Amino acid sequence: MKTAIVWDEAYAEHDTGGHPEGADRIATIVAYLEASNLWPQIDVVKPKPATEADVLLVHTPAHLEMIRRAAQGGGHWIDADTHVSPRSFAIALLAVGGALTAVELWDEGEVPFALVRPPGHHATPDRAMGFCLFNNVAIAAASLLQRGYERVAIIDWDVHHGNGTQAAFYDDRRVLFVSLHQWPHYPGSGWFDECGEGDGEGFTVNVPLPGGCTDGDYAFGFANVVEPIVRQFAPQAILVSAGQDPHRDDPLGGMDVTDAGFAHMALHSLALAQELCEARLALVLEGGYDRRASAAAVAAMLAALADERAHPVGKPQQRAMAAVERAVDAQKAYWEL
Ligand SMILES: [Zn+2]
Repeated sequence: MKTAIVWDEAYAEHDTGGHPEGADRIATIVAYLEASNLWPQIDVVKPKPATEADVLLVHTPAHLEMIRRAAQGGGHWIDADTHVSPRSFAIALLAVGGALTAVELWDEGEVPFALVRPPGHHATPDRAMGFCLFNNVAIAAASLLQRGYERVAIIDWDVHHGNGTQAAFYDDRRVLFVSLHQWPHYPGSGWFDECGEGDGEGFTVNVPLPGGCTDGDYAFGFANVVEPIVRQFAPQAILVSAGQDPHRDDPLGGMDVTDAGFAHMALHSLALAQELCEARLALVLEGGYDRRASAAAVAAMLAALADERAHPVGKPQQRAMAAVERAVDAQKAYWEL
């Protein structure tokens, strides 16, 4: 497939000081891509900023105003992890815009990877947390629903549970949320039995995994939970909350995933999108804090999406298989597994 990145140098203007989610994150990834032989094949697209109306598809007006006022006031720490600087409101709108611009590229037959910051998947409708201000992926999904899509799947393989995305659609059957994450770990949610509520019951799928999971373990989770459930859901588009913090070199995660594991997940997400929804797949950056590892993993994913060549992954470990089986048991009430 033809690949694209959506990126703007201005993402560095969300200033978090010496924080792991630092201003240099995206620039390092882009510099790595520029130096690789992939670069000539990648379409580089500038994001359009999101509007406040876009943000309000997911967030409360009070939350939008809180971020705006925090930035106007010169910035401060919202919690122990989450910083707002003077430019953060504008750049958070540009991060949402990155996800919205990415899905526009489906019309060009491209698979986009939105390299945005601040990340989004911890931001709930009314709260910024975990480095996240607005929920980029959730807003992209909501905008697709607004445009008439009836079923959107979100796959989240960031090492942390995407509590904000889960909260945004917990009672909404139009959005399937599937998360593989380390447990116990920040933010503490994402247990097997969190399956949605009301109309959305059965449309939240959590696969909490023990630390130390490998490429083979994630592939096992994909094959036994993600792929069969997404297939039965039959989405019209697939969004990925793509965090590289399950990488074995990541300072904030405790997993053992390598470039091959990320390439495998990207390729299998593409295969689902090709089979189910005319290749409407968009990856949106979430975490990933080791600069070199993150950049190499993004390059491996873009290469896999471009050449569609399979990457060998090892066999799953017993304890990861047991965790995936628990998720299967929890989801059997809703899906054929
Ligand atoms: Zn993360």
